[in-house]
Amino acid sequence: MDKNRAKRNRQLGEQIIKSLKQRNMEGYYAETKEEALKIALDIIPKGASCAWGGAKSVAEIGLKDAVLEGDYKAYNREAAPNPQEKRAIELTSFDVDFFLTGTNALSMDGEMVNIDGFGNRVAAIAYGPRNVLVIAGMNKVVKTLEDAWKRARNEAAPINSQRFELSTPCNKTGMCYDCKSADTICCQFLVTRFSKVPNRIKVILVNDNLGF
Ligand code: SF4
Repeated sequence: MDKNRAKRNRQLGEQIIKSLKQRNMEGYYAETKEEALKIALDIIPKGASCAWGGAKSVAEIGLKDAVLEGDYKAYNREAAPNPQEKRAIELTSFDVDFFLTGTNALSMDGEMVNIDGFGNRVAAIAYGPRNVLVIAGMNKVVKTLEDAWKRARNEAAPINSQRFELSTPCNKTGMCYDCKSADTICCQFLVTRFSKVPNRIKVILVNDNLGF
């Protein structure tokens, strides 16, 4: 990472942490993916139950593997042998100690925007798990909530559609057409503007490009 960009990211990170605090959320800043992993493992106590959703950034810092291989109770829906067990794991995920996820966009003012298809991820961010740990690369940071909406809808969602090779207009063109395709992943939109439970939501900002 270029040192001037790293300096700016750190400055923005400090501001976002203050913004998150005003919204009853906890913020941390990591210079590297390795540092982000260490912060995350310091936050999550040994023995904690953990689940995840929309977790590309979580995987990219090595946190998913660390939880699966470490002394934690992991609920891994990706390992479910059939749709029934996958659903059972998703329902269990609402009662875990830590739900691990990324975010589609984060404003400088500390508001997060997330888009979901089935809704299990945004539901768990909003309610259920005792803690929500968000891993956010600085590529997710934008200035305003309006910019966060634009990023989530026009960048994160089309790339996610392309990742799953869905039959959506954005898969063909890379642009959002506000479709009503049966395959759309843009079904549930969540803006997280305040944590009713103090510090339930913790955000680790990472001086790197993570996720989409
Ligand atoms: S609304 Fe449709 S076209 Fe737009 S990003 Fe979502 S799936 Fe793609």
